[in-house]
Amino acid sequence: MNSILLEQNISLANFTTWRIGGPAEWIAQPKNIEEIQYLINWIIKKKISCNIIGAGSNLLINDRGLKGLTLCMRNLKGIKIDKSSGIIDVLGGEMLPTLARKAAANGLHGLEWAVGIPGTIGGAIVMNAGAQEHCISSYLESITTLSLTGEYKILQRQDLNFGYRYSLLQNEKLIVLSARLKLTLGHAEKIRQITNENLNHRLKTQPYTAQTCGSVFRNPEPLKAAKLIEELGLKGFRFGGAEISKIHSNFIINANKASSCDVRELIKFIQKKVLDTYGILLETEVKQCGF
Ligand SMILES: Cc1cc2nc3c(=O)[nH]c(=O)nc-3n(C[C@H](O)[C@H](O)[C@H](O)COP(=O)(O)OP(=O)(O)OC[C@H]3O[C@@H](n4cnc5c(N)ncnc54)[C@H](O)[C@@H]3O)c2cc1C
Repeated sequence: MNSILLEQNISLANFTTWRIGGPAEWIAQPKNIEEIQYLINWIIKKKISCNIIGAGSNLLINDRGLKGLTLCMRNLKGIKIDKSSGIIDVLGGEMLPTLARKAAANGLHGLEWAVGIPGTIGGAIVMNAGAQEHCISSYLESITTLSLTGEYKILQRQDLNFGYRYSLLQNEKLIVLSARLKLTLGHAEKIRQITNENLNHRLKTQPYTAQTCGSVFRNPEPLKAAKLIEELGLKGFRFGGAEISKIHSNFIINANKASSCDVRELIKFIQKKVLDTYGILLETEVKQCGF
């Protein structure tokens, strides 16, 4: 194994799409499973904690930073496609938009909705990411995981207790090393066209290039969190450097050097307003780390 870089005191702001977060006590970005195994042995020996992050597109990290090892999975990349069976084997750090594009290029139908979700496959499985009535669990066969105590396990889709933006992995910390998906062969040109249309639609309806984490709140189904927030006239409302997007009110933008505290205060403010007006407690979809 080539030597693995273990860095200390690195700002996690560059590891989240919100560009918020204090320093990691230790951070590593393994490129293969052997390196992950080495890191797990290292944390076991040193008796330190471990936080797993993907592309950081659904994370609010405390400005105080994170203790122990931050295991950043975004360099664990690789996709193998068997076009005839529709089976895709993908490593946990591969980006969902890359996977969606590769599937489309191979004429495989199923991930057209995923092209605009800027997370890794591992993060998508933990969150059961989805859009337009689709979600990743519908296309998942199994995952290979490594526990923080060093055990490998293959889990089938039915083992993961998937629900709306939920999987068992939100309660049980396991590293998603790889996943097997099954798509169906379709009309390549049509799949490419729908994939492109989906991305264009997002660019028009979301503050896609701003520093955000996507939707902050889960939808209190059948209602939409964005609609409730918008009806309260909160678009553009600011707390410190954090602002409710004027384009999509379930998005909070890091408009001007927002701190993790600014975002948390804005979240609490929105929750209170919605609760007082509608009697609904909005739950956060974004995962908060180090608080
Ligand atoms: C502009 C924008 C648009 C978005 N649109 C959508 C959308 O339409 N639908 C949607 O569902 N989400 C959306 N999101 C949110 C986000 O992209 C998804 O939740 C995504 O799946 C998170 O993946 P990630 O790799 O960034 O995970 P992170 O944010 O890094 O982590 C999320 C959780 O997964 C865990 N995790 C990450 N990787 C692994 C791994 N390999 N093994 C074990 N645990 C892991 C982390 O510990 C954490 O608990 C959007 C975000 C942005 C910024």
